[in-house]
Amino acid sequence: MIRSDTLALIGNTPLVRLAGPSAATGCDIYGKCEFYNPGASVKDRAALGIIEDAEARGLIGPGGTIVEGTAGNTGIGLALVGNAKGYKTIIVMPETQSREKMDTLRALGAELVLVPAAPYASPQHFVHTSRRIAEETPGAFWANQFDNVANRHVHIRTTAEEIWEQMGGQIDGFTCAVGTGGTLAGVGMGLKAHDPSVTVALTDPHGAALFSFYECGELKAEGNSVAEGIGQGRITANLDGAPIDMQFRISDAEGLALVHELLRDEGLCLGLSSGINVAGAMALARRLGPGKRIVTILCDTGFRYLSTLHNPEWLAAKGLAVPDWRQRG
Ligand code: PMP
Repeated sequence: MIRSDTLALIGNTPLVRLAGPSAATGCDIYGKCEFYNPGASVKDRAALGIIEDAEARGLIGPGGTIVEGTAGNTGIGLALVGNAKGYKTIIVMPETQSREKMDTLRALGAELVLVPAAPYASPQHFVHTSRRIAEETPGAFWANQFDNVANRHVHIRTTAEEIWEQMGGQIDGFTCAVGTGGTLAGVGMGLKAHDPSVTVALTDPHGAALFSFYECGELKAEGNSVAEGIGQGRITANLDGAPIDMQFRISDAEGLALVHELLRDEGLCLGLSSGINVAGAMALARRLGPGKRIVTILCDTGFRYLSTLHNPEWLAAKGLAVPDWRQRG
């Protein structure tokens, strides 16, 4: 199929049936291959949705500059959308994110501002830094992915519709982790609009506060995670009102084991948020019982983490399990 331009490559990603996780649970577990997007992550959708919405509202125009704080993937999406539309892009990112994301942003021509990892309450946090830069830059538009609901609207309009159609309306459950909450809330709302009996579950990594919020109404984090792009400590505007029926908490060890198994056994090279999502989908499958059809998100490509998740030295230094076939050299 010929698409009309780069932006038309965003979305319409395939679903893949995950053989190992399906066999282990007696369910059919499907992953939405968001690494097929031109920026290789689910965040291309939010980037395009936010910029098209800003254009429609007259918030950005010719010669404009997009400014955003991001764990990296939204920045890559915004930079490619910006290049395709003729906008400059300034990206503020914590310095703890993968080297590959920084190199990709520089290759796209984005101006990269690295800040130390800081709690949300600190003025140094990447979100607040990006808002300040936007305020100080003439002609700038602050994308504000966490609290700009154009983010979840694009998932209601596109991701949820695609999943519903690809599953032929036969879907029992959906789950994914939260960065901004755009994907979980948007897909959850979109699927429930078709069929309110679809179970929507939150998959939360350690170090995030949402599991305890949906469990007992209290935002409380436990443990920590090296997963990039997920792990939220507050109810963002995108998450507010999300139709969440149940919640699971997944460790890095569980998620990473699935990342490595899917690579070894199925040839799928994924990032850790995808592994955590698949672990969440398996927990949901076990909760719902055999024979159910469950969908999750494969958020980004593992080629973005060759220096970390797929690097034995990095894994060993972090005290994480090195897959035995890599130990053999
Ligand atoms: N996984 C990765 C790798 C991401 O970069 C993000 C976005 N921060 C997510 C998952 C979560 O997506 P969302 O922002 O829609 O919650």
